[in-house]
Amino acid sequence: MLTRTAIEWRVLNDQIINDMEHVKMTIKPVKKLLKISGENTKIAKTISKAGGAVRIASLSMMPDAILCPGSKAAACFDPCLKSSGRGAMSNVAAGRQARTDYWHADQAGFLDQLRRELRAFIKTCKRQGVKPVARLNTISDIAWESHGIPQEFPEILFYDYTKRAARLGNVPDNYLLMFSYSGREQYARQVERAEQSDAPMAVVFNGPMPEYFAGRPVIDGDESDLVNANAGRVVIGLKAKGKAGNDRSGFVIHTDGDLIAMEV
Ligand code: SF4
Repeated sequence: MLTRTAIEWRVLNDQIINDMEHVKMTIKPVKKLLKISGENTKIAKTISKAGGAVRIASLSMMPDAILCPGSKAAACFDPCLKSSGRGAMSNVAAGRQARTDYWHADQAGFLDQLRRELRAFIKTCKRQGVKPVARLNTISDIAWESHGIPQEFPEILFYDYTKRAARLGNVPDNYLLMFSYSGREQYARQVERAEQSDAPMAVVFNGPMPEYFAGRPVIDGDESDLVNANAGRVVIGLKAKGKAGNDRSGFVIHTDGDLIAMEV
């Protein structure tokens, strides 16, 4: 018998397929895929922590079950950051949705445009004497290496978080991946696989950060994603924001009592 979550997931998938048919007929052109001016607080902090020596291009799309195939097992779809901060603004959400619609309707066209924008980004960075850095999965989990993007742009340093453990260790050297944890039973195999890699593991905590989690030291992950991505076998502690504070699915770890003692 299907569980309620499985039924909801199937309905969501059917809905996306129906929407995609509709989108193919109504797709509007998207002028810009990338933002190159410090789109969110974390990116601005990351640039500042690097002393302004980098410029970060970011791509924000509206997540769905196809863009985020690990989100079902991890139960991160509701507490996702998609609606926090600027994501709560209707024009920002509409822009993200337009980029997602474009991806579903015309992936080849989307990738061509992305390549053009990345080439222009490299030129801008050269002119300004800064290192080009890109975060293409600001709130999505697309395997860009499967589309040859990091391979085609070795001068760019890419970084992302992922809920797909199979990607770890299978990306080019200029693509730094961090694994995104969830304590859900359904996600345990992904976590086991990720634990075998040296990739940093990001964990969302609601409450004080522990010193250790899952046998790894915990660092404050809210300052710089570039520091996080290069931190090795640590837990990147992230503070629960927005809806995540109320999450009880297992995605967010509540550091209030016995739960944390079990997990360490
Ligand atoms: S995988 Fe990441 S971006 Fe996708 S729904 Fe989960 S938290 Fe959001």
